Amino acid sequence: MSAVWTESENTAATASADAAPQRLKIERETHKLEKRLCREVGRAIVDFNMIEEGDRVMVCMSGGKDSYGMLDILMKLQQRAPIRFELIAVNLDQKQPGFPEHVLPEYLGKTGVPFHIENQDTYSIVTRVIEEGKTTCGLCSRLRRGILYRVADELGATKIALGHHRDDILQTLLLNMFFGAKMKTMPPKLVSDDGRHVVIRPMAYVAEKDLVRWAQHREFPIIPCNLCGSQENLQRVQVGEMLREWEKKFPGRIENMFSALQNVVPSHLLDGTLHDFKGLKPTGVASEQGDKAFDPESFVAPSPAGLNIVAV
Ligand code: SF4
Repeated sequence: MSAVWTESENTAATASADAAPQRLKIERETHKLEKRLCREVGRAIVDFNMIEEGDRVMVCMSGGKDSYGMLDILMKLQQRAPIRFELIAVNLDQKQPGFPEHVLPEYLGKTGVPFHIENQDTYSIVTRVIEEGKTTCGLCSRLRRGILYRVADELGATKIALGHHRDDILQTLLLNMFFGAKMKTMPPKLVSDDGRHVVIRPMAYVAEKDLVRWAQHREFPIIPCNLCGSQENLQRVQVGEMLREWEKKFPGRIENMFSALQNVVPSHLLDGTLHDFKGLKPTGVASEQGDKAFDPESFVAPSPAGLNIVAV
């Protein structure tokens, strides 16, 4: 009996000695993650002048990891920002079957942030109006948008913050190219389609994987996003998988694609409304940016093994 005690005590002692460095490592990693999230959100806010002195920011909460993460980080930044601004969290309860309506009010109540729950049964409208088997997202999101704009007016919100992140932005870019024949995506800041509100995306620089880890660490009470019974957009799912696959196989590719969105060269694309191709004349001045005629461009890209490959 005493041997068992000794053994367990020894095992426990070894386990706790092993656990201590492991715990420290996790704490360090979490601290780094928090710093990175705050830095990226702060950088996006500054780069696009998203939040200004005296703003009242309506933070749209769906109950998913992205919106919880957005509110959490904005609350941290609010404490240390050089400007004064207000946050008000808003959730639209669309009365989808099984929606756990107590979850968000309980969570938001604990955070101390002012919040508003808007109850509007759009689910019944959508299921009544749209034929069975047809996609419901078009009408559903139109109704949701209209309600959120009205709520923003009623609350006196000067900005509407959405939780879309870097990976949403890249997915949307590719979807627009593949299916919409347009090179555009979700912008970090834009006037709403009714022309009356400014919509901001403070998570624009944040990688989705960081939000997944942050949600796990903070143990957010995530509400499932499939309660409406609508199929997830298959194309978006596929493009998301493709990007994740690329990230694994070609480290750096996602970052480069995202940086490309901030480095657009209209003279090297084909849109005549962005660059005056028709009126082009020789300048007589040599320029690195000029056309190199038959010389193909070469690229140095990181390979999976970390070797540099020159692609021509
Ligand atoms: S997935 Fe469901 S909740 Fe989301 S827009 Fe479509 S119908 Fe509405």
